[in-house]
Formats: sequence, C-alpha cells, structure tokens
Amino acid sequence: MNSMARACSMVVNLLFPRGCAGCDKPDEVLCEACRALFSQPTAQSFDGVAMQRWFACGWYHGTVRRAVLAWKDHGDEECDRAFADAICALAKASGVIDFVRDRHGSCHDVVVVVPAPSSPASIRRRGRKHMMPIAKHLAGFLREETGCEVTVRDALENRGVKGKSVQTSGAAQRSQRLKGHVSVCPSVSLRNTMVILVDDIVTTGATMRSCVETMRKEGATVVTVLALAHTPAGTQKVGPTQAWSRTQVQ
Ligand SMILES: [Zn+2]
Repeated sequence: MNSMARACSMVVNLLFPRGCAGCDKPDEVLCEACRALFSQPTAQSFDGVAMQRWFACGWYHGTVRRAVLAWKDHGDEECDRAFADAICALAKASGVIDFVRDRHGSCHDVVVVVPAPSSPASIRRRGRKHMMPIAKHLAGFLREETGCEVTVRDALENRGVKGKSVQTSGAAQRSQRLKGHVSVCPSVSLRNTMVILVDDIVTTGATMRSCVETMRKEGATVVTVLALAHTPAGTQKVGPTQAWSRTQVQ
C-alpha cells in the first residue's frame, strides 16, 4: 500500500470501525471463531527439510482465505499480530521448538527465521514485506522458548515474473515459471545456519520447494516450513505424485 492508500485506509477506519477480517464481526481484528480456524495444524511430508514435514496453521478456503487476503492484499496490517501468534502456536504444536532445542545443543549453528520472498512488484504494491512482522515475532518466540540465539534474515529474493499469485495455472507451469527466480541475496550468508522458512499460503508447493533448495545449496540446514494456510489437497491441479498426504498434527 502506498502512502496515499495508507492515509485513505486510516480515514476509512476512523469513519467505519473495523470488523473481523474473516467474518466482519464488529470491533474485532480477528474474532475467536476465526482465530480457531488458524489453529488446525496439518503436516505434509517433504524430504527436503530436516523434520521431513512442513506445517500449516489452517486450510486456505472460506473464512481463512478471506482473512489472509484482507491482510495480505488489502492492507489489513492489524492482523499481523493474530497471524504471528498463529505461526508461533504452530511452531509449538509441530515440534519445531523441541527440534531446534535438541539440535542446537549438539551443534553451534545459528538459528535463522527466513520469510518467503515476494516479487518486487508485490512488495511495491503492498508498500511492505508482509511476512517480515511474522518472521520477527516468531524469532522472538523461538528465542524465548529455546534459549537459543535466533535471528531474522531477509535472505531470499524472488525476481518472479509476475509475483506469486494463488490463482495461477497448474503446478508444472508454475514450477517452470519460478525456476531460477528465487535466489539467496548475495549480501546474506546462510552457511552453518538452521533455517525455519515462514510463508503465507502454500498452494502447489513450488515456491516453497524452490526456496528450500536454494537455501540448502548455500549451506543452510532447513528445519521446516511454517505456513499460515495451505490449499486443500485435491482441489489443485497436481499430478498423483505431487499430491500430499495430509495428516493432522496430534
Ligand atoms: Zn471472525
């Protein structure tokens, strides 16, 4: 959001008190019922990461979709805190905290939270890197919970052709389009780091895989990926080999 849009949205907020980003319930940023939809953690297997699985807070449909889009693309920055809390709760439920604590004792790698990158066009349009507040909050939470030094590094660039839109075509095309567009910023070193990647929406997983691969090539151990939401498997046009088996996190 540019400064004019930001000013307008402030005026609108003054005139019309806000409603829940998910269901419009008055005077709530994200009401309890909608928050609950972000605490239904699921895991999908992924052999590219140390935990062998990546995790999401909830399913990207209905109310969850509405709330995420309000935050991500319509400037509802007040949701930062609610979504950051959801990611922290996911870190706990998924076992990431225990994993980091155990591993960190046996090695001296730096623990790093990396936000998934948006394209330059998306960053300009939004007027910010929307995953940054979430990454920072998670780093603080991990620091508290594990006692390890945890930092945030804005390590990845996405020089994507059109940015990552959820409505894009099939997995193969998308994967092709993204190939080579995600890279580690030359100024950032990931050597001997334990990385936790945070993302908003995982659809086909192409961006996520590309990010993880790139960071591993630069010497990072990627612990796992934590996402706010994922699209239900089966509704995406993915081939049988790409379909994720969904398991509830106990
Ligand atoms: Zn609500």
